[in-house]
Amino acid sequence: QPVLAVVGRPNVGKSTLVNRILGRREAVVQDVPGVTRDRVAYDAQWSGRRFTLVDTGGWEPGATGLQGAVAAQAELAMSTSDAVLLVVDASVGATTTDEAVAKVLRRSKRPVLLAANKVDDERLLADVASLWSLGLGEPFPVSALHGRNSGDLLDAIVKALPEAPRDAERTAGPRRVALVGKPNVGKSSLLNKLTGEERAVVDSVAGTTVDPVDSLVELDGQTWRFVDTAGLRKRVNFASGAEFYASLRTKSALDAAEVAIVLLDASEPLSEQDLRVLTMVVESGRACVLALNKWDLVDEDRRHQLDRELDRGLVRVPWAERVNVSALTGRAVRKLAPTLRTALESWDQRVPTGQLNGWLSDLTAATPPPVRGGKQPKVLFATQAGIRPPTLVLFTTGFLEAGYRRFIERKFRERFGFAGSPVRINVRVRE
Ligand code: GDP
Repeated sequence: QPVLAVVGRPNVGKSTLVNRILGRREAVVQDVPGVTRDRVAYDAQWSGRRFTLVDTGGWEPGATGLQGAVAAQAELAMSTSDAVLLVVDASVGATTTDEAVAKVLRRSKRPVLLAANKVDDERLLADVASLWSLGLGEPFPVSALHGRNSGDLLDAIVKALPEAPRDAERTAGPRRVALVGKPNVGKSSLLNKLTGEERAVVDSVAGTTVDPVDSLVELDGQTWRFVDTAGLRKRVNFASGAEFYASLRTKSALDAAEVAIVLLDASEPLSEQDLRVLTMVVESGRACVLALNKWDLVDEDRRHQLDRELDRGLVRVPWAERVNVSALTGRAVRKLAPTLRTALESWDQRVPTGQLNGWLSDLTAATPPPVRGGKQPKVLFATQAGIRPPTLVLFTTGFLEAGYRRFIERKFRERFGFAGSPVRINVRVRE
């Protein structure tokens, strides 16, 4: 989702305006000159468009004085956002500080909007016109305190922001499941078990009926669409390239599905082919449930061995839940439905930006990213940009090592769950 950064010097009513945009009625946080408040990010919405609002917070007059701090803040806003909103106090007019910020912002390649705040009555409109001098285009007169004209400003904001990439469509109808796994792992046996033996018998009369591509399956009081199942029941033997065709089928099933049941043969060691299927699932971004099939063949010894194999083999999907099943006896197949539901809930889950940033700033304060090339990268803020699969975007001042990104993911899952779903973490380094 696109990001709007709000900048402005203290006491222009920036926090009041932010609260106005967010539609909150909470106590207004007063900007105190010289007091540093952490950069904060919030979810905002207007006319059905969602965006992340970043309040660039207080000023830190350092060696360069207030002017320098202001310019730095504006630079930061430009490099981490899709549009910038500069707030000035119309009752005061453009100060030298405002001019310094405007000068930086005029170089922005992204849209910049100018809000002239504290226009509490008509008489102040004349002062607003003088703000054209900042060279940022038309000033929008608003009164954050009274809510005056904030609708027009918001219209302009959403117009300036790029369209968010849309989340994968959640089409109506049953949720779509792909049953994947290497040949002979028991996919068709499991499907037969789930759909009931009768159905399977009918379908096995080769060539007499045209198979529907998908199967509707009733599990645990809910209808599920198992995609691309026609091929599963056919016993096709390709003389050569069997694996190639198997992987094509896996790919197309994953494309059509929202969640995958990955079948593994618990009676045999994990194979290269299993790992290839798992890689395809991870790359597809689909939610996933691991079903360890042929559990009826697993004895005590095998179980211990299997635990070790899985610890090593499933490092890419530590978040996937496992169910030990037997397509032959029907053992635990009823556990599949609740596990699928959990995975899909995670896949659809969104953490509000405020909550995400509260957690993240604690985490990065306690364990900062490792220093690289003598520099300490800082994580500025984050937003969950999408769902299906859940995708986080971290805005940073430097590259984050893979190890640190994994650490963040692990901690994120400890805090927010997301069992059964991949979580993608993208890092946007401010340029
Ligand atoms: P697919 O190629 O993945 O569709 O695998 P199939 O469903 O055709 O199964 C391959 C073989 O494994 C068949 O001989 C099945 O009877 C057998 N099989 C499937 N599931 C189980 C199970 O849970 N336990 C045992 N013992 N055998 C199974």
